[in-house]
Amino acid sequence: CLILALETSCDETSAAVIADGRTICSNIISSQVPLHQKFGGVVPEVASRKHIENVLPVVDEALKEAQVTLKDIQAVGVTYGPGLVGALLVGVATAKALSFAEEIPLIGVNHLEGHIFANFLCHAELEPPFVALVVSGGHTALVHVKDYNTLILMGQTRDDAAGEAFDKIARVMNLPYPGGPHIDRLARSGNREAIHFPRALSDHGSYEFSFSGLKSAVLNYINSARQRQEDLSPEDVAASFQAAVVDVLVAKTMQAVKDCNVEQVVLAGGVAANSSLQEELNKSTRLAGIRLYYPSPVLCTDNAAMIACRAYYQFLAGQYADLHLNAVPSLKLGI
Ligand code: ATP
Ligand code: MG
Ligand code: FE
Repeated sequence: CLILALETSCDETSAAVIADGRTICSNIISSQVPLHQKFGGVVPEVASRKHIENVLPVVDEALKEAQVTLKDIQAVGVTYGPGLVGALLVGVATAKALSFAEEIPLIGVNHLEGHIFANFLCHAELEPPFVALVVSGGHTALVHVKDYNTLILMGQTRDDAAGEAFDKIARVMNLPYPGGPHIDRLARSGNREAIHFPRALSDHGSYEFSFSGLKSAVLNYINSARQRQEDLSPEDVAASFQAAVVDVLVAKTMQAVKDCNVEQVVLAGGVAANSSLQEELNKSTRLAGIRLYYPSPVLCTDNAAMIACRAYYQFLAGQYADLHLNAVPSLKLGI
């Protein structure tokens, strides 16, 4: 069974072909990062225009690399939310056209569910149930994945997402966009205990997160050090900030594992590539006798292979969309 999928929710134009749900035949990702870098973030109108230019060449390349034609494809999956409306619409319109022309099912995929399903492409043995920690550019959430099509939202951030906090702190530290990987790199030679930043809601007993207070605390620290013309160690700031994020993520994830009575944890989204998050969760899960999974770096950030994997399990369940499928910019995760 071959599934073609498209992903255009933000600043990556991507198309992929996967076989039998878990084997990647091709995963073409055209990143617009260099285009948006000079603005320090994604410019929605610029992103939509670039998706229009890129989408068909990227689909062609995905088919070519997989050594198949459209005639070999059984269904077409597409991200319909959450994301930038103009960007999403490019993928949705293209997928509808392909589905109509080839008379194959159209499958609307939730981008965040896609991030979780990236793990199935990297770990052949992985099956639900598990707890997923979704930490991406725009979202932070804990999800109880009971089976392939039952995803229960346990809690999410009240304000900023984890990735957003990384990117904003990086920006004031004059690091290139997106800043997450740069903070990660700097933090490796810093002291995580050099500065104490707040761990919001850590004893709240809920699965809610909040990172906006942490962001302000770090900004205040940097600004007052600059004002007093004190020496500032970017490595220590990065390590201490990252520690505050990671400590809360790890504590809440381990609590969720206990409450859901599962034996597996899965990381998803761009921040899942963070080395300290992986390391600290590795320690905690090992102590608790729980297995930890995370995708390879390329599959942590946006790509169409993860969308194809999610689409496959919806395909098996007969969850098809029709040609009324629309982009839903604030599509919610789970039930
Ligand atoms: P969403 O999936 O919520 O719609 P998005 O698609 O923009 O948002 P992703 O592609 O999942 O987000 O991830 C991008 C984010 O991951 C950016 O904020 C980036 O800084 C962050 N990121 C990538 N690598 C790392 C890392 N090693 N450490 C911390 N953050 C990272
Ligand atoms: Mg991106
Ligand atoms: Fe994403």
